[in-house]
Amino acid sequence: MEQRVTRKAFDEYMVPVYAPADFIPVRGEGSWLWDQSGKDYVDFAGGIAVNALGHRHPEVLSALTEQAQKVWHLGNGYTNEPVLKLAKQLVDATFADKAFFCNSGAEANEAALKLARLVGHSKNADHKNEIIAFKNAFHGRTLFTVSAGGQPKYSQDFAPLPPAITHLPFNDLSAVANHISSRTCAVIVEPVQGEGGVVPADPEFLHGLRALCDQHDAVLIFDEVQTGVGRTGELYAYQAYDVVPDILTTAKALGGGFPIGAMLTVDSLAAHFQPGTHGTTYGGNPLATAVAGKVFELINTPEVLGGVALRHLWFTERLNLINHQYHVFSEIRGMGLLLGAVMHERYNGQAKQLNQLAAEEGLIGLIAGPNVLRFAPSLIIPQADVEEGLNRLERAIARLCS
Ligand SMILES: *Cc1c(COP(=O)(O)O)cnc(C)c1O
Repeated sequence: MEQRVTRKAFDEYMVPVYAPADFIPVRGEGSWLWDQSGKDYVDFAGGIAVNALGHRHPEVLSALTEQAQKVWHLGNGYTNEPVLKLAKQLVDATFADKAFFCNSGAEANEAALKLARLVGHSKNADHKNEIIAFKNAFHGRTLFTVSAGGQPKYSQDFAPLPPAITHLPFNDLSAVANHISSRTCAVIVEPVQGEGGVVPADPEFLHGLRALCDQHDAVLIFDEVQTGVGRTGELYAYQAYDVVPDILTTAKALGGGFPIGAMLTVDSLAAHFQPGTHGTTYGGNPLATAVAGKVFELINTPEVLGGVALRHLWFTERLNLINHQYHVFSEIRGMGLLLGAVMHERYNGQAKQLNQLAAEEGLIGLIAGPNVLRFAPSLIIPQADVEEGLNRLERAIARLCS
């Protein structure tokens, strides 16, 4: 008989860059997961803002299996139908004229930052290469993106890092105004800092960045890897803020669970990339883009996008009620279905502990730093599942506070 795989195998065989929960989910359906023992969980994590249509959505499953019967991969010597359809969907729905496909958020940001440097060099061969980024930002784990990220603990051990990246305080427009110059080639920002604690940008901050980039001929990059594809209730957060970037990166929810990323930009910038300047083997692979095309089609509707605002209320109203009783949070914040509950100072640093208690009660959540409990559930989660998940959270909170 085949031996049963257990959580112990992780410690035995896996490079220890993660510390996964001690149970192993084996099946998902909608906003529910089941582990090896058959225990059920309400899923408010969505694979970290990825499973935007929940698990095993029937139409997405059909798109996957239909494409799997045709052709999986061709390489970039040939284009394919699903990638061309997806590119048109993205261009039709956004400010962008062109799309570049890759496999992850980090790769989308890597492409964006490389393009910004390339554009800067075309204007001033030596000097227009500085990138302004923000403290507590997260842009991925490649060396360039981890350097652009604003948490030194993720980058410092990999020095020497790519130079000419400056980190300024998030939401501090005067800091940017004081620093930006003709040397600046790009400003990269998350409209809502996700990993950094679910911190929405102030509207004036993003509008101000747009104006400063225009003044100094720098490109404005919105990292919408976490906020994109409906998460905030708009297709992309830039639309909610009414600030149009020059480059936008999208991944996570774009594939609904199938790995894919994209960088979107306008013709005048896209033209700086020529055959050979950038690429990736799997980028725009027909299997990934067939799935993403279906996910995008299903999410980019008034019903799904409008439903996000309603679900935001289901969450925040109940979370505030729970908090009224237990005073465990100091603030409930976020946009749409990217929600952060900040631990009250009495429970400082205990977000992870609360998340573990929640898992014991059958709720899968996320944290964003030591102090913020984060939820990024399916955009179509039914009200009954929200209620059930929050019942379970309330039991976990009662235990934390006892
Ligand atoms: C998750 C995330 C990334 C990195 O995406 P990967 O697919 O893990 O490479 C980049 N930026 C933001 C804002 C993210 O949330």
